[in-house]
Amino acid sequence: MKIFDGLHAFIWRAYAQNNCNTYLIDGELNILVDPGHLHLFDNVHKNLNAIGISPDRIDLVIATHGHPDHLEAVQALGKSTMFAMSAEEYRFISEFAGKYFKIPEPYFFLQEGNLVIGEERFEVVATPGHSPGSICLYWPLKKALFTGDLIFSQSIGRTDLPGGNGGMLKESIKRVSEMDVQYLLSGHGEIVAGKKEVKMNFEKIKNYWFDYL
Ligand SMILES: [Zn+2]
Repeated sequence: MKIFDGLHAFIWRAYAQNNCNTYLIDGELNILVDPGHLHLFDNVHKNLNAIGISPDRIDLVIATHGHPDHLEAVQALGKSTMFAMSAEEYRFISEFAGKYFKIPEPYFFLQEGNLVIGEERFEVVATPGHSPGSICLYWPLKKALFTGDLIFSQSIGRTDLPGGNGGMLKESIKRVSEMDVQYLLSGHGEIVAGKKEVKMNFEKIKNYWFDYL
């Protein structure tokens, strides 16, 4: 599904299986955000084929965090594809889950602040809470925020998994709620599009979920 020029969303709708939404930023370079589970990568592959991009043309994969339903399929991409995640998350997930699935070796680490890829400028925002090194990726030109499992349409990320922290999740949500966002591109569920809709989504979440964090 094309969201706007330069962004496709592969929304995961098979709710019987836990997998994440994958996003393709196709500009001068092709960037894939959160490729998902390895055994479900066929879905991404098909979606890429449908828009005429083969997986070996992906230049960079960015993982919002280290859970296998976001990260595992990095290994399905070729050696020419770079991979990036936060250093804190890499350390955490290697220690916690390294024996359960293959943690890909980052080509570089994501750090809070500017991230320039080709002609595009992004901002990496450290948003711990769902996991210690979770990040959101902000695309200022498009006012688009890739949230991973921090926040969804009408819901929030789990904090009961190892390394989760409700207080931190709350602070992270507060932080991104102050950003200028037109597209909330979450790791699961439907996209929230429109400034007003995004604002309302943050309000609902603050009103409903913040008492439980
Ligand atoms: Zn997760």
